[in-house]
Amino acid sequence: MAELTKFQAVLQCKCPRCRKGDIFTGSAYAFRLQKTNINCPYCNLKFEREPGFFYVAMFVSYAMNVAEIITIGVASYILGLALVYENLWYYVGLILFGVFLLSPINYRYSRVILLHWLTPGLGYVPGSGDKK
Ligand SMILES: [Zn+2]
Repeated sequence: MAELTKFQAVLQCKCPRCRKGDIFTGSAYAFRLQKTNINCPYCNLKFEREPGFFYVAMFVSYAMNVAEIITIGVASYILGLALVYENLWYYVGLILFGVFLLSPINYRYSRVILLHWLTPGLGYVPGSGDKK
C-alpha cells in the first residue's frame, strides 16, 4: 500500500501517526452512530490524548460552522434569493438545514483537524505499528 500524504490522511480520516488505521468506525452518514476509536487499530495510538481532549474539537467545529453558514447564506443570495426582510426565514431555514446535513462531517473533521494539525508533538512516524 502506498503511503498517504498528510492531506490524503486527513481526507480519509486516518491516524496521524501511522496514516493507516481508521480514526472512526463506520461511515459519516451511516444509520448507526459513528464512533471515534479509542486506540488506532493499526499502531495502537490513543486518540484521546488526555481527559477532555476532544472538547477542543468544539472550537474547530464552531469555526467550520461559521464558514458553512456564511457559504450557505452567500450561495442562497447568488442563486437568486433576494436579500429582503420577507426572505429572512428562508435564509434561516436553509442555513439550519445545511448545518444539520453537514453535522456528521463537522463531527469527523473537527476531530481529524485537531489530531493532525492542532496537537503538538503528534506527527507522522513512518513504519509505526508495522509488525517487526
Ligand atoms: Zn495509527
